[in-house]
Amino acid sequence: RKFVYDFSEGNKDLKDLLGGKGANLAEMTNLGLPVPPGFTITTEACKAYLASGEAPSALRDEVGSHLAALEGKMGKKLGQADDPLLVSVRSGAKFSMPGMMDTVLNIGLSDASVEGLAAQAGDERFAWDSYRRLIQMFGDTVLGIDGELFADALETAKNSRGVTTDVDLTADDLRGLVEEFKGIVVRETGREFPQEPREQMDLAIRAVFDSWNGDRAKLYRRQERIPHDLGTAVNVCSMVFGNLGPDSGTGVAFTRDPASGQQGVYGDYLQNAQGEDVVAGIRNTVPLAELEQLDKKSYDELMQIMETLETHYRDLCDIEFTIERGKLWMLQTRVGKRTAAAAFRIATQLVDQGLIDEPEALKRVTGGQLAQLMFPRFDNGAKGEQIGWGIAASPGAAVGKAVFDSYTAIKWSRSGEKVILIRRETNPDDLDGMIAAEGILTSRGGKTSHAAVVARGMGKTCVCGAEELEVDTKRRRLTAPGGAVIDEGDTVSIDGSTGKVYAGEVPVVPSPVVEYFEGRMHAGADDADELVKAVHRIMAYADRVRRLRVRANADNAEDASRARRFGAQGIGLCRTEHMFLGERRELVERLILADTEVERKEALGALLPLQKDDFVELFEAMDGLPVTVRLLDPPLHEFLPDITELSVRVALAESRREPHENELRLLQAVHRLHEQNPMLGLRGVRLGLVIPGLFTMQVRAIAEAAAERIGAKGDPRAEIMIPLVGTVQELEIVREEAEQVIAAVEREHGVELTLALGTMIELPRAALTAGQIAECADFFSFGTNDLTQTVWGFSRDDVEASFFTAYLEKGIFGVSPFETIDKDGVGKLVRDAAAAGRASRPGLKLGVCGEHGGDPDSVHFFHEAGLDYVSCSPFRIPVARLEAGRAAA
Ligand code: PEP
Ligand code: MG
Repeated sequence: RKFVYDFSEGNKDLKDLLGGKGANLAEMTNLGLPVPPGFTITTEACKAYLASGEAPSALRDEVGSHLAALEGKMGKKLGQADDPLLVSVRSGAKFSMPGMMDTVLNIGLSDASVEGLAAQAGDERFAWDSYRRLIQMFGDTVLGIDGELFADALETAKNSRGVTTDVDLTADDLRGLVEEFKGIVVRETGREFPQEPREQMDLAIRAVFDSWNGDRAKLYRRQERIPHDLGTAVNVCSMVFGNLGPDSGTGVAFTRDPASGQQGVYGDYLQNAQGEDVVAGIRNTVPLAELEQLDKKSYDELMQIMETLETHYRDLCDIEFTIERGKLWMLQTRVGKRTAAAAFRIATQLVDQGLIDEPEALKRVTGGQLAQLMFPRFDNGAKGEQIGWGIAASPGAAVGKAVFDSYTAIKWSRSGEKVILIRRETNPDDLDGMIAAEGILTSRGGKTSHAAVVARGMGKTCVCGAEELEVDTKRRRLTAPGGAVIDEGDTVSIDGSTGKVYAGEVPVVPSPVVEYFEGRMHAGADDADELVKAVHRIMAYADRVRRLRVRANADNAEDASRARRFGAQGIGLCRTEHMFLGERRELVERLILADTEVERKEALGALLPLQKDDFVELFEAMDGLPVTVRLLDPPLHEFLPDITELSVRVALAESRREPHENELRLLQAVHRLHEQNPMLGLRGVRLGLVIPGLFTMQVRAIAEAAAERIGAKGDPRAEIMIPLVGTVQELEIVREEAEQVIAAVEREHGVELTLALGTMIELPRAALTAGQIAECADFFSFGTNDLTQTVWGFSRDDVEASFFTAYLEKGIFGVSPFETIDKDGVGKLVRDAAAAGRASRPGLKLGVCGEHGGDPDSVHFFHEAGLDYVSCSPFRIPVARLEAGRAAA
């Protein structure tokens, strides 16, 4: 096995072996771009080291021969006393990992070679500053010394010289500082700073290997779902210096604007500095365009290189470069990160430039980016008083009155106020308050804190971990570092896409992308937003290639119409229980509590016309497209009075000696029907089998509505769906009754109805016996919400607020299985049930209507599992269409 690759030996496709940085350095080298010579130690070497605790024996020799070749090329030896070759040692994994140890510069400097470097550069100050930097970085990252110790010593040196920046320190100052740094090394590690250049290099390489298993790196990988066994590569690169005077400098550049996608000159430049100075923000950078005045030759060359890179990578690239005494060097490039809006614009621009084709354009954007573009945002032109900044945890723009506890949040929102819930951190007790609030702001916790996880789950705007904001929940007051104060009732605005927090009300504008989907903005118009045009084109590509159809979960005509505008091809789930809320709840209560046949018939008779009218409206809104109506499913208690409230009422009446017979009767019934675990109780098909006439009433309403629509020359395509089936026997009974009702309606109305009758697959037993069930079902729709609950044994109402945060922090899963389908467990059941169902009934129509139907990752899974459609909430339809297209592209 070969453990070391010269930059000239690799290429951009070897990221597994050479890491992202190494692969791209090799690619640039082979393109003939000015990359300082060097070599990359492979991830294989790292893996071997991590497995055995020792570097493979061949590695030392291979590094030696590559180093010798490098020394030959450069005409000087590593750390050579009179003219030292210096190198940088940098980690570089397949995926960029900001949490990891990164860089040691100036390896090869020692007491002996620092004078040689001074003589060669003609700059003593530069040489001692470089040595100072080496000991500092090496001490911190390789020897594990607390970086503060070096920073404090540097600060003290500046103070005692009465200067504010390190540029003002003289060569002698720096010489003194080097002595002090070396003293720190001895004190902290019990040994001298290594003077032997090769030893410095080997220790740095080993430290990079070790950093793969550092705590921060491990946590980062768990959160980003990067496998732990990839290892990191190590890049050894000859040093070039941007801090050798005014004709030197360092900068970053983008081949296009990562915020808008526009082509142009974007980047920053810092004269007479090293890359680390830019990151540390020691001095202010100037816009890249100014480099043209400072060094026209290098500027022109850089522009040329940027064009080469864009054409070669066929994408936006970001670049790090250094100019050493008028000579340009490329230190890094990679396909650059970009905003959601830029991703869409760049993808279509590249198609227009002939650099990529349509399927490739689909791969350059994601459903997550489209979802981001659909949130309302703060008006760009409007200025708010920014008082703080936190982590952008859940996107959107929210404005409301500040409240500091959940109780107030609920109380105020009930009286019609919009509120922002502000807490130091949230916990499960805050759940109701979070639901009541427009947005959530916390001063503690990261992207996986309770507030962030729960808010994202609810689609609520959230800014978390705004550490500089002091939250005093007792005094109900938030204090910003600038002195601004927000008291309970003051208006605040939070931006969940940028993390910014404002005092007062910042105007919110709807997303232009939603305006477009709603049909209020036309992509064809001359003045149409560039972004809207790009989204329009990408959506057309997706619709052309996708195989999955996309339906909506909708249960009223308004949602159905919106879903249609957003591109829905039918309704995959109409939850009829949503039609029984509000005033109609009492009718259901009467039905459930009916003691006699007469009472029950009366209750059913009252419900029937209401149901029928609902369906007529729905079928009209979705005329010509399938509408899957699911028969009543929810847990019973949702239709009964609250047990505590009712008990209090009875007790009060008793103590006042008021008549309370009816309440008492009701309370006894509620007690009788009370369930510990209503989600696993009397619901779905069980309810239909226990309460005579309930399902047949619903079937009749559907059939009559369809007949009425046919009479009105409409084209109703109703499908009847039975929930929570566990065995084919349940389905057989319901089916027989339903068929009789449908036949009766056909006779009464003199029409012929084609009403498919299918079932949800949302219990493990249903999935395991899918072959039998398919014999009695015209279609399956996977209810992945209940299937996830029952396969994992997680109560879907409780767990996300209780221990999921801990599970996410521990990396047991990177994302809630209620959000993204658990492919190995729940997904396996889906795949097996699909296969068994189709084996017993060829051509069986298969869909999914759980929350996963609108989740990007899950849509790809359902595409691969061979389902016919996904069904999701109206707002997620564009995302599902796009991801279905991406899956097929
Ligand atoms: C499901 O369980 O996935 C489903 C769609 O049904 P509900 O969420 O209404 O239980
Ligand atoms: Mg369900």
